[in-house]
Amino acid sequence: MSDLRELYQEVILDHSKHPKNYYKMPDATHVAEGYNPLCGDHFNIYLKVEDGIIKEISFEGSGCAISKASASIMTSIVKGKSIEEVEHIFNQFHSFITGKVDKNFDPNSLGKLAVFTGVSEFPVRVKCATLAWHTLINALENNSEVATTE
Ligand code: ZN
Repeated sequence: MSDLRELYQEVILDHSKHPKNYYKMPDATHVAEGYNPLCGDHFNIYLKVEDGIIKEISFEGSGCAISKASASIMTSIVKGKSIEEVEHIFNQFHSFITGKVDKNFDPNSLGKLAVFTGVSEFPVRVKCATLAWHTLINALENNSEVATTE
């Protein structure tokens, strides 16, 4: 397990240093701002949604390695997916990271999100790892309030 942990940490650090889809989208159809006051993570999420499908997604802002890696991985996962699929993935991820899944749950079923396995042991870090997702859901719902992790 410790080898896997190291690998996960490397993936997180790599995404935080070289985030995917990291730019401001001038012609986004949906935009939302997310802020995690506990850590200072602060991101904007930009989306282009057509016929219920996320065609483009990007983000920009600043935050800790976990929040940035989470946003980066999230953008690579949800691009091309329908809003229903995205909500389903987030619900699964959220249950997993907040420890609400049973012991037989296989983190590998979460695909790339499995790298956040270790984060579930640190409640403060859970907020960092879910900020981008809360912000994405707000953007999809056209909720103009700043997403927080509370
Ligand atoms: Zn953070």
